[in-house]
Amino acid sequence: MPSLSSFRRITIKVGSSLLVDHDAQDVRRNWLSALVSDLANLHRGGADILVVSSGAIALGRSVLGLPKGALKLEDSQAAAAVGQIALARIWAETLHQHGIVAGQILVTLGDTEERRRYLNARATIGRLLDMRAVPVINENDTVATSEIRYGDNDRLAARVAAMAGSDLLILLSDVDGLYTAPPADNRDAKLIPVVERITPEIEAMAGGAGSELSRGGMRTKIEAAKIATQSGTRMVIASGHVEHPLRVIADGGRCTWFATPSNPTRARKTWIAGALETRGSVIIDAGAVAALKRGKSLLPAGVKRVDGAFARGDAIAVRGPDGNEVARGLSAYDADDAIKIAGKSSADIMSILGFGGRTEMIHRDDLVLAGSVRTEGEN
Ligand code: GLU
Repeated sequence: MPSLSSFRRITIKVGSSLLVDHDAQDVRRNWLSALVSDLANLHRGGADILVVSSGAIALGRSVLGLPKGALKLEDSQAAAAVGQIALARIWAETLHQHGIVAGQILVTLGDTEERRRYLNARATIGRLLDMRAVPVINENDTVATSEIRYGDNDRLAARVAAMAGSDLLILLSDVDGLYTAPPADNRDAKLIPVVERITPEIEAMAGGAGSELSRGGMRTKIEAAKIATQSGTRMVIASGHVEHPLRVIADGGRCTWFATPSNPTRARKTWIAGALETRGSVIIDAGAVAALKRGKSLLPAGVKRVDGAFARGDAIAVRGPDGNEVARGLSAYDADDAIKIAGKSSADIMSILGFGGRTEMIHRDDLVLAGSVRTEGEN
């Protein structure tokens, strides 16, 4: 497996049982410091780092004096409201010791599943990373209700990794990898070092629940692996119950890697090219066609006509002056607004629309040239 320093954007999920000492009901500060110093090294080496941290409920419940065991939804939400403050502060302080700025992002299921909100969350994360900050992300447990929440940070972390275009997702928890059978009940169970593809046999190897403090068991980790690997993100499951868990991974110690046949850029372009129905189209001038072919974004100035009733985040076809489709992509504007800014300079967007939208009508990361991506047999 490649060395950790070869990844450019790493999302790391830290489980509650690692961060919070079960007996003392406090943060395991020394452990966290060691982890953060390893993350800071990767950050200094140029990698973008995103943290998905659990622990809000575990921290808040002790402050509020809530009993051990399963909590009612309202109680876990109250606990999260209290614990998230401390959780964010601990990450911010620990990262600050290495001169790294942290930014807190609390997401709900809708933020990762609804296209328009997805684009907003993605843009904010992208901007923070551009500024070399480390987003510290958790589910917004205080407002997420049972039908519309993740409930576990494994799948949330996989969605975040995919949304941010991470090439590596590390799930740190109290298990050191995937076994041929749940190891608690099977003494002969063997750790699987590399999973090339998630087959029904692999899924069958995942057991049931996790520990009292953390919600995700192996099942949610396999679900996370499916989300990640389909998005071109490699994933590794490793135990955090050691002083420097990243070193164990880097040194080829006990853990399970999930391979992916793709990479984040290709997976995203394949998704845009093949899996989305277009909701409208724009006709662009010859200069804009040439710019797109050189890998540029589509600016409003090059747009001559807008058709259809699409919303921001919908896929639209991009046609040349002759009407042929030259590309498709995700529009940064609703059709009504796109009509108003078509042919205009990006500098005038604010005065035309009354709000400062994106400079591009379609950002190059959200755009695929016709014929540039093979969709057959891929997803
Ligand atoms: N969001 C929950 C918390 O911060 C954790 C969910 C999980 O353990 O996966 O307490």
